[in-house]
Amino acid sequence: MITEDRLDSTTVITWLSQVAATVKEQRDYLVELDSAIGDGDHGINMDRGFDAVTRAIAAQDGATPGQLLLVAGRTLVSHVGGASGPLWGSALRRAGRVLGDTPTFDAVTLAAGLEAALAAVAELGSATVGDKTMVDALQPAVTALRDQLDQGSPLPSALQAAADAAEAGMRATVPLQAKRGRASYLGARSIGHQDPGATSTAMIIRDLERTVTGATRTAEN
Ligand code: ADP
Ligand code: MG
Repeated sequence: MITEDRLDSTTVITWLSQVAATVKEQRDYLVELDSAIGDGDHGINMDRGFDAVTRAIAAQDGATPGQLLLVAGRTLVSHVGGASGPLWGSALRRAGRVLGDTPTFDAVTLAAGLEAALAAVAELGSATVGDKTMVDALQPAVTALRDQLDQGSPLPSALQAAADAAEAGMRATVPLQAKRGRASYLGARSIGHQDPGATSTAMIIRDLERTVTGATRTAEN
């Protein structure tokens, strides 16, 4: 039952720490993808940004989940020069505002937070699905999560569907021509390459699934 899922500050800390570990591990791959259709810094940007996020949230004793996301978002904006910093920064800040100042949140609020994150990215970057950006991974993830919860799926399987949808969206960027961001300067030459931002976004959603699945398992044992 989704109403039984209570998520808290530990969920947010675990998720952001896992993202930091993932983007560090995948840094060279993300750089490679961005070298093909951008300026080759995406892995460096994400690694530097989430490294700083990990340090910033470690200093936040007793912060609520919403406050942690606000700090994480601010940190990304101030530490990352590339497009992904302000985009993910605004996304996390907006999600943090949705979570507010309560010590716990449920699956429905998590979905609302992710929806708000997507809205922030769309507002700032004006990209829609098909423009070959991180929106191509984030939008299907948000839709899948919402649909699954509406159908009564438990949060872990709803998040699994969201992560699967993000990865499908990521793969679907390959044949597209970029309409936003640096890759759009290449015109038709951006076709045939996977978007780096959609790739890191799919990783971030998969880490959210892993975090919640782990948390649920611990809570049940
Ligand atoms: P930069 O392009 O400034 O070098 P990064 O390399 O860190 O920044 O990030 C590139 C990624 O950012 C792209 O692969 C794309 O997914 C995403 N992106 C770029 N512009 C936009 C936009 N206007 N809206 C949404 N996402 C965007
Ligand atoms: Mg780049």
